[in-house]
Amino acid sequence: MKHLVILGGGYGGMRILQRLLPNLPDDVQITLIDKVPYHCFKTEYYALVAGTISETHIRIPFPEHQRLSVKYGTIVNIDLDAHLIELQHGETVAYDNLIIGLGCEDKYHNVPGAKEYTCSVQSIGKSRHTYQQLNGLTPNATVGIVGAGLSGVEVASELRESRPDLNILLFDRGDRILSMFPEKLSYYVEDWFVKNRVTIIRNSNITKVEPRAVYNHEEAISCDAIVWTAGIQASTVVQQMPVEKDSSGRVILTKYHNIPGYENVYVLGDCASLPHAPSAQLAEGQAEQIVSVMQKRWNNEELPEELPVIKLKGVLGSLGKKHGFGLLANQALMGRVPRLLKSGLLWMYKHHNG
Ligand SMILES: Cc1cc2nc3c(=O)[nH]c(=O)nc-3n(C[C@H](O)[C@H](O)[C@H](O)COP(=O)(O)OP(=O)(O)OC[C@H]3O[C@@H](n4cnc5c(N)ncnc54)[C@H](O)[C@@H]3O)c2cc1C
Repeated sequence: MKHLVILGGGYGGMRILQRLLPNLPDDVQITLIDKVPYHCFKTEYYALVAGTISETHIRIPFPEHQRLSVKYGTIVNIDLDAHLIELQHGETVAYDNLIIGLGCEDKYHNVPGAKEYTCSVQSIGKSRHTYQQLNGLTPNATVGIVGAGLSGVEVASELRESRPDLNILLFDRGDRILSMFPEKLSYYVEDWFVKNRVTIIRNSNITKVEPRAVYNHEEAISCDAIVWTAGIQASTVVQQMPVEKDSSGRVILTKYHNIPGYENVYVLGDCASLPHAPSAQLAEGQAEQIVSVMQKRWNNEELPEELPVIKLKGVLGSLGKKHGFGLLANQALMGRVPRLLKSGLLWMYKHHNG
């Protein structure tokens, strides 16, 4: 029996299971290891931290299959040469094939105090803590959100709808927020923020964080809570692996998504160095390719010279529950349509995976 171990039941890990389980070869047994006992929809954590949805709306059980066992535990080390996974408390799990999909964590860019004194949206546990901090604030308190990319914008707008009393400051490095999107889309979102009393602080450079203050260009700005959405890097366990990585700790892979020199070890999603920005869509697209490569290797079939480019459909973001923005097939979308599309996609995701 071959033992395939999947680390992490996020978007990538779930897509692997979805594609493998219906046609699992008779001689393959799978173990999925995750520190939480369900699959969480990370793309919805902005609503969880703002308190506009309950946690049960954004999680589903892992799939069931007679040759899939699910193990709950925190992975602390991956020993590629011994083919062993080490869990907290000393337990080990051996593998023949391994897929590493452990996601990412915040990147603090060496800003003093950022790790200690900011709230995070990068894991379900940290998002629960952030929810408590934000929703427990006294009336008219000030919240600083550092980073106005997709997740910072979604947190700021959802929080505005959840807590109309709060002063919300959105710090961004650039001249305009959502700088990776077309200008007209950034201006639409900025306009929404102006109308909804979210203050954008442009060209900011956060140099230090203290328990109740953010330093912008060394100037202290009082904040009762601070949310960090200013960058991500691969999960610590992945960063500690003695293999080649990019500047965000993501593993450099062969064209077949395995670690060079380790044909049996694949790296997936936010911890893989890929030619696109990390996203759930990318993790799923890569998962499809890993399944097809692994199946060919199991069947001793020849691999294609090149794998096709992973096609991404676009991005959709929310501005509270009624408005949104997006970029689909290079078309900028603004208003209610992209928000409806985003809700529809979430419904479909739950329907197909739940
Ligand atoms: C607020 C927000 C909004 C987003 N919106 C979008 C969007 O609209 N569209 C989009 O495509 N992407 C979006 N993303 C990005 C997307 O969520 C990630 O790119 C995606 O989750 C990556 O999938 P993954 O499988 O690599 O990792 P994840 O989905 O993060 O899964 C990692 C899994 O590993 C487990 N794990 C981690 N470390 C350990 C450990 N040490 N031991 C055991 N288990 C562990 C975790 O519990 C988790 O289940 C958003 C992210 C955020 C934060």
